Amino acid sequence: MKQKRIGLYIHIPFCKQKCYYCDFPSYPGMEDYWESYIDALLQELILKAEEFQTPYVETVFVGGGTPSLIPAAFISKILDTVYIHYNVASDCECTIECNPGTLSEEKLKIYKDSGVNRLSIGLQACQDEILKALGRIHTFEDFLSSVELARKHEFDNINADIIFGIPNQTFEQWQETVARIISLDLDHVSCYSLLIEEDTVYGNMRKKGTIKEAEDELDRKMYHYAVDSFNAAGLYQYEISNFAKPHFRCRHNMNYWRRGEYLGVGAGAHSHYNGRRFANTTDIALYIKGVNSRKPVLSEDNYLSREDRLEESIFLGLRLNEGIDISKLSREFGTDLESRINKKLQKLISQNLIERNGTVIRLTEKGMDFANAIIVELI
Ligand code: SF4
Repeated sequence: MKQKRIGLYIHIPFCKQKCYYCDFPSYPGMEDYWESYIDALLQELILKAEEFQTPYVETVFVGGGTPSLIPAAFISKILDTVYIHYNVASDCECTIECNPGTLSEEKLKIYKDSGVNRLSIGLQACQDEILKALGRIHTFEDFLSSVELARKHEFDNINADIIFGIPNQTFEQWQETVARIISLDLDHVSCYSLLIEEDTVYGNMRKKGTIKEAEDELDRKMYHYAVDSFNAAGLYQYEISNFAKPHFRCRHNMNYWRRGEYLGVGAGAHSHYNGRRFANTTDIALYIKGVNSRKPVLSEDNYLSREDRLEESIFLGLRLNEGIDISKLSREFGTDLESRINKKLQKLISQNLIERNGTVIRLTEKGMDFANAIIVELI
């Protein structure tokens, strides 16, 4: 039997402080839990390797939270455990998420020695006043030092995360952030529109009326400016929010969008394996207790129906610039997708929201502004 090829996600849920817009499972001030959490994580890695019969791992992503906050010796232990208990591809893409202000020479050296070959650094904006307003712990100068240190240690695959549509952010400030990123000649950029979620500091501020979301028109102007600027600079868009130099797409995330299989380890981590989607509890104490008794506590566990899987393929695949192949999906799911969506598809093509090349359809640049609505209409 052909061995499964998977991505492995490892969640480190700790941060120095909570950013005002953040609703991820990440917690500041839990230093007392670090050691017992890492012990549980190592245990879960071994349990999953046994349960899923030493899967063949093509990508590893250590995400958070802020993985670069905890001692690098923990990261080294985690990756050693992966190498011992999993079948790791010789060209495995191994990413760690870092935040400026938490990296050091020593940490980077240990990451390199542990097999990390890709760094994803959270910047968000290049103006210190915006970073402060977002509740970030670092300055732009800290980010520049992190990139310099990373290059000194020969990391040659670096991503920066940036955000637009931040309350009070001007178009000129966004242009400056895009230009600074381009001038750094990074290999990959993830660029997201800020969504204000309810249970965040920003969510409460919006409720009180002390901040306002960016106007739609400005948000879209910022997005298209980034798409055009990055494409012109050789950072080609390959997903709605992601840009990369040729050969530097994030393979780990490509696997998500192509509905590949992956295992997630750690509090709140999600897995997709054999048609089953499941996720660990986000409660750290409960997570540690569950793993220690060899019964990880799940917050969700579903087998997807054929229809669900088809919808997911359309939903995720249309985020990618490569789009989806209607006849391939029809064969895979035993349905005549062409006839099912033909009428809606014609309408979307005539509105210049979707373009078609043979059996492949993809969103146009205009269509990307309405991605969610288009995908819902189509499925
Ligand atoms: S560093 Fe990232 S995960 Fe941590 S609080 Fe900020 S946005 Fe959330």
